[in-house]
Amino acid sequence: MLRIALPNKGRLSESALDLFETAGLRPEFRADRALVARLGDDFQAIFVRAQDIPEFVADGAAELGITGSDLVAETNRPEVSELLDLGFGRCRLVVAVRDDASTTTPSDLPDGTRVATSFPGIARRYFESLGTAIQVVPVSGAAEIAPHLGVADVIVDLTSTGSTLRVNGLKEIGTILESSARLVGNAAALKGSARDITELTTALESVLRARKKRYLMANVRRDTLDQVREILPGISGPTIVDVLDQEAWVAAHAVVDADQVYQTIARLKELGAEGILVTRIERLMP
Ligand code: AMP
Repeated sequence: MLRIALPNKGRLSESALDLFETAGLRPEFRADRALVARLGDDFQAIFVRAQDIPEFVADGAAELGITGSDLVAETNRPEVSELLDLGFGRCRLVVAVRDDASTTTPSDLPDGTRVATSFPGIARRYFESLGTAIQVVPVSGAAEIAPHLGVADVIVDLTSTGSTLRVNGLKEIGTILESSARLVGNAAALKGSARDITELTTALESVLRARKKRYLMANVRRDTLDQVREILPGISGPTIVDVLDQEAWVAAHAVVDADQVYQTIARLKELGAEGILVTRIERLMP
C-alpha cells in the first residue's frame, strides 16, 4: 500500500480532502482524531503538517504527499518531485519593505540587509542570485511586524491578496516565486508503482479539469442549430437530443468553460433558447 502525506490542518487541508473525496477516495478513519486513514484500496493517508510533508516524502516515510510548492522549494530536497499542480492554495512569496522605505526593487538592497522570514533557504538562495549577502532573521510567523520593531529591514513572506501587508504598513518590492498546492512524490520509492500513480493522477486530474467546466443543457429550435453549433462548440460538438412530441425543438447538451457560461447563456437566449440548465461536473475524462 502506498502512503500519502496530507496536511492535517491549515490552508491546504480542507481543499486536499475535498479533492480526494471528489475523486472517489474518501479517507476512512479507524477512530476520531486518528492521524492515519485508509484511502481506497491502494493508499494509506497520514495526516501531518504541510511544512513537514516535503521532508517525509524525501525520507521515504511517505511515497506521496500534498503540500505547497513554496514548502517544496524551501526544503530543497532532490528526492521530491512535483507530479501535479492542484490549482488551490495559490499565493506568492514576496519581498516587502516598510511603506516609508525608498527601495523599489530587491536588487537595490545593500549587503548586510536583515531579512525576517520563515523561508530562510529560499531567501538566501534568492539574494545570492542577486549577489547580495543578507542576514536572515528567522521567524516562524508574523514576519510583518519585524521591520517595525527594527529587527529587520525587509521581510520575505507569503501573500495572496496583499491585504495583510497593506494593513501592516508594508509594500511589495518583488516576487520570488508563485506557489500552489502540488502532488509530490519520491521517485525512487515509487518505482514499481507506476500503475497506481497513473490511476491516482488521472483521477485527480479529472476532478481538476471538471472544476473549470460546466454541463449546459438548453432547448433550442431545430432551425437555429447552425447558430447553436457556433455558440456551443462542446468537446466534440454539442449533443443534440430529440424532445418527445416536439418537432420544432431539440435539446442541446454541451460541456462549456465555466468562465464562458454567462456569455453563452446570453447568446442562447438571443436565439430564443428555453429551459436552460447548468450543472457542475464531478469528473471529466476526455
Ligand atoms: P498552513 O500554515 O498549514 O496554513 O499552510 C501554509 C501553506 O499554505 C503555505 O506554505 C502555502 O503553501 C499555502 N498558502 C496558500 N495561500 C497562502 C497565504 N495567503 N498565506 C500563507 N500561506 C498560504
